[in-house]
Amino acid sequence: MDVVELTAELIRRASVTPTDAGCQALIAERLQAAGFHVEHLRFGEVDNLWATLGESGPTFAFLGHTDVVPPGPEQAWSSPPFEPTLTPDGMLRGRGAADMKGSVAAFVLALEALAARRDWQGRVGLLLTSDEEGDAIDGVRRVAELFRGRGERINWCLVGEPSSSQRLGDVVRIGRRGSLTCTATVLGVQGHVAYPDKADNPIHRALPLLAALAARDWDGAPWPDFPPTSFQIANFNAGTGVSNVIPGRAAVQFNLRYSPRWSADALIADIEQAFSVAKVPAEFHWHRSGEPFHTGEGRLRAAVRGALGDQLDLVPDENTGGGTSDGRFIAPLGAEVVELGPRNASIHKVDECVAVDELNRLPALFEDIARRCLG
Ligand SMILES: [Zn+2]
Repeated sequence: MDVVELTAELIRRASVTPTDAGCQALIAERLQAAGFHVEHLRFGEVDNLWATLGESGPTFAFLGHTDVVPPGPEQAWSSPPFEPTLTPDGMLRGRGAADMKGSVAAFVLALEALAARRDWQGRVGLLLTSDEEGDAIDGVRRVAELFRGRGERINWCLVGEPSSSQRLGDVVRIGRRGSLTCTATVLGVQGHVAYPDKADNPIHRALPLLAALAARDWDGAPWPDFPPTSFQIANFNAGTGVSNVIPGRAAVQFNLRYSPRWSADALIADIEQAFSVAKVPAEFHWHRSGEPFHTGEGRLRAAVRGALGDQLDLVPDENTGGGTSDGRFIAPLGAEVVELGPRNASIHKVDECVAVDELNRLPALFEDIARRCLG
């Protein structure tokens, strides 16, 4: 089964988060046949798979997910979302084709090739979860805790998320910003709009502060390889529905995407202090999605550039753009982490697809990167 056929087999398994729908069993069977040691790590409703080959030495691991986002209205698709379809313009279409069953299939073929020719030192591994697109609580986050407890080391980790923009390999992620969300309830005193001295308008209290936070230069100086830290208001809600009442409360939801200049703890302390200084009484509910991580120059980035140069004749843009990924849980274990996968134009959309010619390049590319690290 080549990489296109294996991707198609995975698409056929309708693995909407947190369902794995047999994807990991299929992969486990193949890797066991290639000599891998396989562990199934199920937490709650989430299936995780950890497969390794080699007993000791530095570890190179591929990281991916078998779950997909829901297809949305099926009639909007040109072909059924869980029926893999080859299109006349050379695409393989189906939910998960690009995010990220194509990469997962390519991991399997790369690992089989590595098993077949053992001219490398150390250990190779594959970590898969079925909870990347969802809450990401019982997925790689839990596996990373387990790894930390038992002293499992990962030196280099390649995440197969669709990083590419115009052509395969043109963009490589070398880190991700942190993400922190807050729902704040600003507390005032309700009253008649004609008697503002007898009320306390929470909207009037909140607006100048929120405007200042949105306009603030959070980093001082640009942080190398990172876009500026940004504060974005996602929702602001207040009012009783009538024009003559000052409301007693206002609710605001905001999110920060932040550089390594900040941690969630530091941001929370800073923002709660800013509310206090501005005399805006509020109750805060914080949600931490993940701290930023950054992979500096090292063996993995050199391996990725070397393989992309030799195989695809390109020099990638190495950046930290985009949302968060499961790499955020593996980086704190001390691993160098990069993300490299197919083009991301169609991900999470109707008619998601991956270019067949690019899919065919992936296994050798991934194999080459692993060999350069383990050589
Ligand atoms: Zn993904």
